[in-house]
Amino acid sequence: MINITFPDGGIRQYQKGVTPFEIANSISPRLASEILAATVNSKITEVNRPINQDSTLKLHKWEDQEAKSTFWHSSSHLMAEALELLYPGIKFGIGPSIETGFYYDVDSGDTSITEGDLKRIEDKMLELAREKQTFVRKDVSKEEAMATYAKKGDEYKCELIKDLEDGTISFYTIGSFTDLCRGPHLSDTSVIKAIKLTSIAGAYWRGNEKNKMLTRIYGVTFPQKKLLNEYLVMMEEAKKRDHRKIGKELELFAFSQRVGQGLPLWLPKGAMLRERLENFLKAVQKKHGYLPVITPHIGLKELYVTSGHYAKYGNDSFQPIHTPQEGEEFLLKPMNCPHHCEIYKVKPRSYKDLPLRLAEFGTVYRYEQSGELHGLTRVRGFTQDDAHIFCRPDQLEEEFIKVIDIVLYIFRTLDFKEYTAQISLRDPNNKEKYIGSDENWDKAESAIIKAAALKGLSTVVETGEAAFYGPKLDFMVKDAIGRKWQLGTIQVDYNLPERFELEYVGADDKKYRPVMIHRAPFGSIERFVAVLIEHTGGKFPLWLTPEQAVILPISEKFNDYAEKVGEFLNNNDIRTSIDDRNETIGKKIRENELKRVPFLLIVGEKEVESNKISVRRQGEGDKGQMIAKDFVTMIENEIKEQLG
Ligand SMILES: [Zn+2]
Ligand SMILES: [Zn+2]
Repeated sequence: MINITFPDGGIRQYQKGVTPFEIANSISPRLASEILAATVNSKITEVNRPINQDSTLKLHKWEDQEAKSTFWHSSSHLMAEALELLYPGIKFGIGPSIETGFYYDVDSGDTSITEGDLKRIEDKMLELAREKQTFVRKDVSKEEAMATYAKKGDEYKCELIKDLEDGTISFYTIGSFTDLCRGPHLSDTSVIKAIKLTSIAGAYWRGNEKNKMLTRIYGVTFPQKKLLNEYLVMMEEAKKRDHRKIGKELELFAFSQRVGQGLPLWLPKGAMLRERLENFLKAVQKKHGYLPVITPHIGLKELYVTSGHYAKYGNDSFQPIHTPQEGEEFLLKPMNCPHHCEIYKVKPRSYKDLPLRLAEFGTVYRYEQSGELHGLTRVRGFTQDDAHIFCRPDQLEEEFIKVIDIVLYIFRTLDFKEYTAQISLRDPNNKEKYIGSDENWDKAESAIIKAAALKGLSTVVETGEAAFYGPKLDFMVKDAIGRKWQLGTIQVDYNLPERFELEYVGADDKKYRPVMIHRAPFGSIERFVAVLIEHTGGKFPLWLTPEQAVILPISEKFNDYAEKVGEFLNNNDIRTSIDDRNETIGKKIRENELKRVPFLLIVGEKEVESNKISVRRQGEGDKGQMIAKDFVTMIENEIKEQLG
């Protein structure tokens, strides 16, 4: 018999060789019918893989990401099977699951596959799925694997096999199609009930521009038709909220091929919005004892060799900048931390100086592959709302609490109502992977867990997900249409203080090493603005929005009065402009509403006579007449409440 430990700590005994499916069935047949994957000893596996030793077990239903990734990856096999039947001789690259759905990179030779073919492939997939084809695993030797694909003439798979170690290679077969894969997969294809192939793109083999361009087919599948329909509605809504589209409409940012891909240009309205976000955060940070610093955009290569960033980013990122001085090399900074460590070292520090909280809106540069670039969410130059807290180990918990306070204040103010936090701890069975003493790790991990509990965060704990240099806490927000975005992060670091030999003098006059916390509540301003646009659909909170009010004179006759009101409002810090174009009032209202201006102020005969303005609020319509001074008070109160 073997012991199976469940997530709630309960232990049950089963025969050696029992499968996760059989275990689920022993609990309830309904559960067994719903599970799609299982995690056995922290490894995702198939529900029909026998378990031969004492193990921890988690059963995954559709709701779990582990189930989805298994479902979607299995669907990529199903798509490949359909493709091979429809396009005999087609060759395959890789077919992983992604955050939502899956793709497969294929080489269809002289026949090109286009968007118009997707429906036909979907239909074939549905037909095959209904055949309830089982995924059959077979372990193969490297030699056999190579021979199989050499015979098939699939050079891509041969190349993949070359890099694999003999004894670790397996094939999976469904129906007539066999694929090189390590799994895991579904038991059979019958649970795949709804299929949508979403798009086609070109992708270089292994992401290398020197290689052949393959065809990447994206798709998504579901266990119920209803879920696909919901997904399609969400995608429509997401399209409307696309930050690239709204950013253009609101004139917030742009890109120029001449400046370079992935390097955003902030237009005046976007720059002002960004400035407001920065000032907002600066004010909060000041209250929490942060000190501002400013550091250059480049640093000597040696700085990043010391920090270890050169080893991590050096080859795959922007290459060193050379100077007329022989041998002198600078790097664009990929991180602000090394600079801040040098600021720490400017003078001797005592235990009484700690915590030292250094904050900077620091712009960093990382070379993302051009295929990875996406609007403001994946760029090559971005500004982190960065800060580094240098503290004593006994101060970690309090500092974490303070950082969480800032993050939660930001979420509240910007109307992110749903969020979760992930605590990433080290793998206790693999301690040598991590830097820092056991004592410090235990202290830091319990500090994070305690701080999160104290703040009432809903958390998931992921063992083994910590960085090698320290445990961390990451925040995920859910936007208005249910998509999850990763935002802020708080990270403990034992590595950089070691590498930079940071010290402080303790009460006993001995030298100690401080702990460092990296934290960026927004993550990066670019990404944060993108998420905010997609969350709000461009209808920013009143305090942040680029234009708070537009005055619409009914005709030219009232332009002077509009000017007067506009001046008054702007003098009272209400961001106001005048739309005095010679257009009908109806058209002006429509167009300014499209620009998501929260307040439209209409002025005509009646308003001039009563010395008032007629107020229309976005989404709410007519609010009646009021004098300008009352309008100012109304907005001021609303903003005060928002920034509470
Ligand atoms: Zn597979
Ligand atoms: Zn950092």
